[in-house]
Amino acid sequence: MTMKTSTMPTMHRTKAGVRCGRCGGLMVREYVAELNEDCWKCVVCGERVDLLILAHREEKSG
Ligand SMILES: [Zn+2]
Repeated sequence: MTMKTSTMPTMHRTKAGVRCGRCGGLMVREYVAELNEDCWKCVVCGERVDLLILAHREEKSG
C-alpha cells in the first residue's frame, strides 16, 4: 500500500532552519488561536503544519 502524501503537510529540518516540504521556503513558528497552539507556517506559500499532526506521524513509523 502506498500512503497518500499529497494532502499531508510536510516540513524538513535543516541546519539553516525549518523548510517547507512543499516549496522549500522558510517556516516559522506561529501561534494559531483557532487551535490554541503553535504551528509551523511557511512564509512563502503559507503551508501550515500542525505540531500534533507531526507527533502522530512520528508515532506511526510503521
Ligand atoms: Zn512553502
